[in-house]
Amino acid sequence: MADETMPAYRIPSIHSSAQWSRVPVPKPSSGEVLIRMAAAGLCHTDLEIMDKGAQFVPHKDRPYTLGHENVGYVAALGPGVTDAVVGEAVAVNSGMTCGTCEYCLAGQDNYCENPPGFYGLSDDGGLAPYLLARRRDLVSIGDLDPIQAAPLADAGGTAYGAVNAVLPYIRPNGFVVVIGIGGLGSFALQLLRLNTSATVIAVDLADKLSHASGRGAHHTVTSDASAAATIKELTGGHGVDAIIDFVGIDATLRLATDVVRPTGCINLVGTGGGTLPFRFQNPPLGVHVVATASYSMRELQDLVRLAQRGLFTIDVTTYAFQDLEQAYRDLRDGRIVGRAVVTFDGDRPGW
Ligand code: NAD
Ligand code: ZN
Repeated sequence: MADETMPAYRIPSIHSSAQWSRVPVPKPSSGEVLIRMAAAGLCHTDLEIMDKGAQFVPHKDRPYTLGHENVGYVAALGPGVTDAVVGEAVAVNSGMTCGTCEYCLAGQDNYCENPPGFYGLSDDGGLAPYLLARRRDLVSIGDLDPIQAAPLADAGGTAYGAVNAVLPYIRPNGFVVVIGIGGLGSFALQLLRLNTSATVIAVDLADKLSHASGRGAHHTVTSDASAAATIKELTGGHGVDAIIDFVGIDATLRLATDVVRPTGCINLVGTGGGTLPFRFQNPPLGVHVVATASYSMRELQDLVRLAQRGLFTIDVTTYAFQDLEQAYRDLRDGRIVGRAVVTFDGDRPGW
């Protein structure tokens, strides 16, 4: 691979959309490994970046390769890496962490104060045949299918983090609303069913509701002007204990405010850019509002184990790496069920 180049799908500068480029195959330095990509999930956040530029992570003023949901095989070890094995299948934690700040030391590493970078969000990600990663960001996936494992590294992990954050607010036999049953929401429904006795209500556009039922929603509600009244009725007038909003526009945040019950929780995960109305008694008294970010390393490790035990379904629609622009078009047009995953076939995929 000496001095070879490879195709990569890159953001050339902050306000331009992604494009194909050729870049050198990277070489691992101290503490790093080179990963031969096997599968990469495509996220709605990529569309936000392409449309609006980097908004949610510190932008570095240089081009980078997209792709923050990455699984592959260790191909080469950098100096000092002794505990990874060439050929081992690994998932990459999308957020790099410093490991020494108060948050990292407390296990809240997804809120790291000094994050060195983010694969595919500000630094090179996995939409290229090879990805350079720090050894410390890898989670071994054992014999999990890489195509199934890829969505764990963002969609699944972020949904797990979002569910874990609302658990303390859910009463026994309580109610939870999940808004937006796409890549992330499909995991959240199942993880709520695994972890709680709550009645789970899914809210999405009408054509997505049968999928939501199939992934564990007890009730499905069309996202329209009557959604709040329907949900209130389902809860006997009390409202719901927790809402996880994977859309995050004005209308969905208004819905969250209208249906949450006192002392409940609203968790905003979607980056739709909406605003939550907030004044005394609206949301109701005692309500906690949070916006959770991705997942901790511990949550990713735990989720990989849960997946190995086959405890939930991972819905993927696969595309060859070369066809990733079609995959993004389908994601934008709402044609994906679960996660779009691009696959890298063989040693020189799409070269
Ligand atoms: P997706 O495109 O796969 O799914 C979005 C779902 O929302 C679809 O099912 C769609 O039909 C539904 N939807 C759209 N408009 C709706 C409306 N008005 N009411 C109800 N449902 C509606 O997206 P995804 O990849 O699952 O990402 C979801 C959101 O999470 C995005 O905004 C993404 O940027 C964000 N995200 C946040 C984090 C984080 O760490 N906070 C991490 C990853 C993704
Ligand atoms: Zn994402």
